[in-house]
Amino acid sequence: MTAAQDPAGHRTAERGPIDTQTKRRLIVAVADTVVAHFEELTALDASIGDGDHGHNMKRGFEAILQDLDALSAMDLPELLKAVGTKLVMKVGGASGPLYGTLFLALGKELPAEPTRREAAAAFASAVAAVRARGKSEAGQKTMLDVLIPVAEALASGGDLAALKRTATIAAEATVPMRATRGRASFLGERSIGHMDPGARSSSLMIAAFCDEWGA
Ligand code: ADP
Ligand code: MG
Repeated sequence: MTAAQDPAGHRTAERGPIDTQTKRRLIVAVADTVVAHFEELTALDASIGDGDHGHNMKRGFEAILQDLDALSAMDLPELLKAVGTKLVMKVGGASGPLYGTLFLALGKELPAEPTRREAAAAFASAVAAVRARGKSEAGQKTMLDVLIPVAEALASGGDLAALKRTATIAAEATVPMRATRGRASFLGERSIGHMDPGARSSSLMIAAFCDEWGA
């Protein structure tokens, strides 16, 4: 690993190049996690939606894995934009354009070798882009109920463990919420008592990223 590391071997906030191998490991970690959990995501969406979220996400991330060599060779902004485009094209449903927006915006905002502060600012902007795209806010039982608290944790200097914990707790916190956006909102009160599938997929991706980045 070429980036600066602290004594525990974790990457530090300092600027450093992200090498091809690291990019490859991160893409694989996130994509494999999504693919491995597709049945769970589909089951969550079957409870409060139309049961396609796992399949949608699996299709998108399998397409990303097919382009692994090309994606890993790109610089970070190009890589993120390519992932966003792929998700828009392949995932479909509501989540495809929303995750596509997240990654496209990250690709536009992040420099090739971001500092921790730049990464936090870019993530906050990307989450704002998802809000605008979805016309949605925190508390509506969507992926934003994970993305917003994680953006806040990142901005306030949370470490990888804190980011992962925030994402997991935030996804759990969607269980008692009543959905007011997306298909689950059609269920009204009956959306209460189930975790939002998009919140779960966001928490899975964030946890996989944090685990791999800290490895
Ligand atoms: P669809 O609802 O079209 O079947 P998916 O099942 O792939 O699409 O994705 C559903 C997820 O998308 C929801 O669980 C929710 O997290 C997210 N979502 C839906 N609509 C919105 C919105 N307007 N803003 C933010 N997230 C949304
Ligand atoms: Mg669905």
